[in-house]
Amino acid sequence: MKILFIVLDGLGDRPIRELGNKTPLEAARTPNLDFLAREGICGLMKLKFRGATPTSEEAHFSLFGYDPEFYKIRRGIITARGCGMRAKKGDVALRGNFATVDERLNTIDRRAGRISNTQPLIKALKGIKIDNVKLLLKSATEYRLGIILRGRNLSPNISDGDPFYGKLGKRARKIKPLDKTPKASFTAKILNEFLKKAHKILKEHPQNKKREKLGQLSANYLLVRGASTIKKLPPFKKRYGVRACCIAGKFLYQQIGRILGMDVVKVRGANGLPNTNLKGKIQASEKALKKYDFVFLHIKATDSLAEDGDFRGKKKFIEKIDKNLKPLLKLKNTLIVVTADHSTCSKLKRHCSEPVPVLVCGGEKDKVKKFSERECSKGKIGKIKSIDFLKLIVKMRLC
Ligand code: ZN
Repeated sequence: MKILFIVLDGLGDRPIRELGNKTPLEAARTPNLDFLAREGICGLMKLKFRGATPTSEEAHFSLFGYDPEFYKIRRGIITARGCGMRAKKGDVALRGNFATVDERLNTIDRRAGRISNTQPLIKALKGIKIDNVKLLLKSATEYRLGIILRGRNLSPNISDGDPFYGKLGKRARKIKPLDKTPKASFTAKILNEFLKKAHKILKEHPQNKKREKLGQLSANYLLVRGASTIKKLPPFKKRYGVRACCIAGKFLYQQIGRILGMDVVKVRGANGLPNTNLKGKIQASEKALKKYDFVFLHIKATDSLAEDGDFRGKKKFIEKIDKNLKPLLKLKNTLIVVTADHSTCSKLKRHCSEPVPVLVCGGEKDKVKKFSERECSKGKIGKIKSIDFLKLIVKMRLC
């Protein structure tokens, strides 16, 4: 049997008064998801993550059975590996954005107008060495870049420089050590020096001078985050014995797929937004199932709408997804899994720790008739930990 693994990002939610004390998923009309729930088995999944709320990256690794705590999953290493940098033991990797700041380091644009040609800028920053620590950089599509600090006595326990759309103020933040070890303060010091140096070089770079003349935003600063060390991940194929591919609009999820050794299938118009090409993604999934044993299909906007507090938009988008799932109901010899990486609480406008509903259709049946947080809790799968979930699915595939 093949597996179609559909992740609706941030799908779970809390009951909302304006929706008649229902969650957006409960309030949505979803005949196709309900059909899959009725014909399959359901459950409620608890995600493993560090801290108070999960990030999408750690939630995904957890969902794929890789303990985010053990593997130290953070954005830095995902970006660095996703763009093909070879990290070594002792390195600290970071995710960077070319950004635009004013003279007081207030962020004007976190993505420098979505600048795409950053090669000349990266070239100008290459070869910088501070206190015997080398700074390695590589472009990772558009405004993004991977950064690796290579040297002795480095620590990933340092804060982010990115103020995240003003959530932490507008000013690019100074990197601080997150523990009292000399390694953390040394790493923070090196990175602060590098960022200062990079700002100086970028400000004066001819490409940025040209951009300014054309009225475009100057890519004059590097916003960094997600410092992490490297731990080898056992490839997905080896772990589960399946050939896998990934279909996702957003770069992060493609990177997660790549790191796990999945092929990335691109779909025109798949952009991770509410107007994404859902039809194209479903068609691509059907096609991919002919070639692969495992297709990971990621749909993002359920999460972003909830992060905007738009619970009505989230409900509507769930209904739109449901409509587009119709062609999948006729799939044969395929386990269809629908779940989420984490909940995103619309009223809190952020990721939250509530467990997420799961359904698996194509094997056994239980009594659940509707796909929702509360109904799924009564299903045969019962309460399951994310770390164990995929093992269960792969076992079901072989039954
Ligand atoms: Zn997510």
